[in-house]
Amino acid sequence: MTAYPARPALFIDGHWLSGEGRATHAVVNPATGDVLAELSLATTADLDAALDAAARGYKLWRATGVDEKAAVLSGAARLLRERVELIATTATLEQGKPLAEAKGELAYTAALVDFYAGEVRRNYGRVLVRPAGQRSLVVHEPVGPSLALCPWNFPILNPARKLAPALAAGCSMIIKPPEEAPGSAAEVLRCFIDAGLPAPVASMVFGVPDQVSRHLIASDVIRKISFTGSVPVGKHLMALAAAGAKRTTMELGGHGPVIVWDDADFDKAVTMVSAFKWRNAGQVCVSPTRVIVHEAIADRFAAALAERAKTLQVGSGLDAATQMGPLANPRRPVAMESLIGDAVAQGGTLLAGGARVGSTGNFWAPTVLADVPLSARLMNEEPFGPVATVQRVATLDAAIAEANRLPFGLAAYLFTENARTANILSDAVESGMIGVNMMAMSAVDAPFGGVKDSGHGSEDGPEGMRAFQVVKAIHQA
Ligand code: NAD
Repeated sequence: MTAYPARPALFIDGHWLSGEGRATHAVVNPATGDVLAELSLATTADLDAALDAAARGYKLWRATGVDEKAAVLSGAARLLRERVELIATTATLEQGKPLAEAKGELAYTAALVDFYAGEVRRNYGRVLVRPAGQRSLVVHEPVGPSLALCPWNFPILNPARKLAPALAAGCSMIIKPPEEAPGSAAEVLRCFIDAGLPAPVASMVFGVPDQVSRHLIASDVIRKISFTGSVPVGKHLMALAAAGAKRTTMELGGHGPVIVWDDADFDKAVTMVSAFKWRNAGQVCVSPTRVIVHEAIADRFAAALAERAKTLQVGSGLDAATQMGPLANPRRPVAMESLIGDAVAQGGTLLAGGARVGSTGNFWAPTVLADVPLSARLMNEEPFGPVATVQRVATLDAAIAEANRLPFGLAAYLFTENARTANILSDAVESGMIGVNMMAMSAVDAPFGGVKDSGHGSEDGPEGMRAFQVVKAIHQA
């Protein structure tokens, strides 16, 4: 059995804290059901100590020079790369994804932290045109102590995606990673601390999510909340933030439509949808879910996608042959059973999967359904699991209407070899990100975020740093 190499604990004002009578949460391996660690949860006094540290850390970090800030970020990126085996193994053990995917997640995370090391120096404002002798400037300043609430699906990337731009902007931060996958976040933070981040600038707490978020958001210290998770929780947190007129960035998931037109490169479309649907067992906010196919090729496309699904190797993420690991927690297979059962009961055709795999762990077979009625829950709720549906349409207007039917708008994908069709669809589909003949949506220099119920604000790219800043206009005569 591979040992769990992480040391998840609370990190407050420079101290790693655990035990001492605190309540605990069992961290469980989703492939085996084994308990990996007992995680200590923060007391109210711990949360108050983290707030106090964030207030002091903000004053200290805001006044820290550009060179020192950039050195901490680039040092953290280097340590992340050096510690790839430890951090990736931790992520696979606590979250389930194949080790190769965890290493890919770490590589992207390190590149992103490096990007923000550069952004520290690129915090450009504007000089406005004024008569001689006068000056007007627009400058970007840190928003203040910030709170990051991170989910379990990308346990390495999610905390870094919030911490690195906040630090580049000059903010201090309290991070609450997921209690289900705490070790990856703790080891990511350790890279920043070991790279020289002053102790009070970043704290890490775990607890009962609702209690932690209510307490921290209610504090006058916190000026910004960045959340990644589900739409209902995001709306609840926005209401809490509104009471204190606090800024928010909300990354809230989607129901990824994929339009495959009759002039698409068929094999490329099947290969890409397969690769991106089963990645992280479909537990990805930009996962492709509703494949909307021109009627002339719909049956052939559904059959090809199902064929690929049946050959996928499902197993422990530590096994080198595994292409898809278990779902991250026992709630996900239960959700799959309910959504897929309802879709079949309402007349959808099951072409592949549709059941658990094995009797231990949270494994679910890659599932493809065709012609599921729009009344089925699967066609309306984010499944967040390894299931794709194939729908047939006859016209571009029908494809656009289906893509825009839901309140989500995170990522949408188009496959066509016709530039005019690509332009029409790219313009008409309501989505924060569009992939045309490609599906990789994360790039360190590009904004990542959604519209409509999928949230607001962006992560990554220069926009990710702006999310932790306010603007100030300075006029001088
Ligand atoms: P959930 O809605 O209970 O939790 C989602 C995340 O929000 C978790 O990390 C959880 O710890 C956190 N959370 C929940 N209540 C909170 C609160 N009051 N304050 C602060 N944080 C809170 O659901 P879940 O079962 O963990 O995940 C299932 C759903 O969450 C999925 O169906 C998916 O829609 C969504 N999700 C989205 C993303 C994403 O990348 N956008 C990631 C993970 C989960």
